[in-house]
Amino acid sequence: MRQCDVLIVGGGPAGSACAWKLQQQEVDVVILDRAEFPRDKVCAGWVTPPVFEALQIDLHDYSHSRVCQPFTAFAVGVMGGPALRTNYHRPVSYGVRRCEFDDYLLRRSGASLSLGTAVESIRSEGNRWLVNESVSAPILIGAGGHFCPIARRFAVRDEHAADAIVLAQETEFLLPENARDSFPVAGDCPEFTFCADLGGYGWIVRKGDYVNIGLGREQERNLTAHVTAFLTRLRETGRLPIDLPHPMRGHAYRLRSGLSRIRLPQGVLLIGDALGLADPHSGEGIRPAIESGLLAADSILAAEGDPARVTSGAFQVRCQSRFGADSPPASGRPTAMGPVWKLAARCALRSRWFQRHVLLDRWFLHTQQPALKLQYSPRIPSDHATVL
Ligand SMILES: Cc1cc2nc3c(=O)[nH]c(=O)nc-3n(C[C@H](O)[C@H](O)[C@H](O)COP(=O)(O)OP(=O)(O)OC[C@H]3O[C@@H](n4cnc5c(N)ncnc54)[C@H](O)[C@@H]3O)c2cc1C
Repeated sequence: MRQCDVLIVGGGPAGSACAWKLQQQEVDVVILDRAEFPRDKVCAGWVTPPVFEALQIDLHDYSHSRVCQPFTAFAVGVMGGPALRTNYHRPVSYGVRRCEFDDYLLRRSGASLSLGTAVESIRSEGNRWLVNESVSAPILIGAGGHFCPIARRFAVRDEHAADAIVLAQETEFLLPENARDSFPVAGDCPEFTFCADLGGYGWIVRKGDYVNIGLGREQERNLTAHVTAFLTRLRETGRLPIDLPHPMRGHAYRLRSGLSRIRLPQGVLLIGDALGLADPHSGEGIRPAIESGLLAADSILAAEGDPARVTSGAFQVRCQSRFGADSPPASGRPTAMGPVWKLAARCALRSRWFQRHVLLDRWFLHTQQPALKLQYSPRIPSDHATVL
């Protein structure tokens, strides 16, 4: 039996960030993930700069041997209408490949890794949690994404809470060499197209020699029809002059709502998609995953590892104060709106001012919110993870 201080299930950005912060304070952490890494994740791979700052990642170092595409403009439109381009004087976001980004974060976390190991069993013994009868810890973190086994086992959600779940399809592929120079979408300018009913949006993003195309909608039963319409439009407007080499892949995740209504046993926390933290306006999930991982680590350090003092209620209050009110006002969301609001939103989306100051700066880039800074500072460097 491997005994450790904190056991994290899930080695995505949330789990890695949490482990990285704890390892700096010499906490013994094991990360268990069912996948072998590097593994891919269905995602556009759009990351805002405060993520790199909070994790103290040197962008030059990261981008030395990995794709890290700076974005200095966005083109945004509604299906059937023209797109408006908004330019910035500096990179305001980056496009990464999740197979590279997640592997980098995991190895850098310094945690002991148990990869290719799915959770089969969870039970408590005394004041410890035992997973798969092979790892035990007094504190258990669920970072297993939307289908996290810790969340499924423990999380009690208010049955009246209206869950906002995004269903999305995506594909990422390497451009054939003969299509690279002529491909019409430039690396510095991702293109977004809102569905005509404003129930979601599609994107086409170039990251170096890779292209990522996808579309996400909230609570959508007819996603494939919208994806097909979007791909047709990309072809008709000349934005996608080649055939997709792979079929689209689907995934789901929960937008932030009803946080304060999730109850967990003492010593158990959920972070990232397992808690359902993605931004309700943009669907951005990487930054909330990483920040919630750091906040969880900070809460554990503040409790000096005492599981009785690691409570989900107090942690979720910290998440709320960082990420905002529980349920965003309906008027602030580009989805699930009534006809009058939809008309107003369509008009607003044609306004350059609205696109820049509200949609992009406020909702997509969160330029008003600085990078997360926490109480504890690093004591030991952690460059390399050990493998169990
Ligand atoms: C199509 C699409 C596009 C997106 N685009 C963006 C974007 O551009 N920018 C952005 O910020 N967000 C985006 N998101 C959201 C983002 O991908 C997630 O919010 C983010 O990955 C959450 O990170 P996480 O660490 O919580 O979970 P994950 O990244 O999902 O990691 C969870 C880990 O848990 C492991 N796991 C799961 N079950 C088990 C088990 N039973 N046992 C052991 N291990 C397990 C998995 O193997 C995985 O490694 C997108 C999502 C989708 C679906």
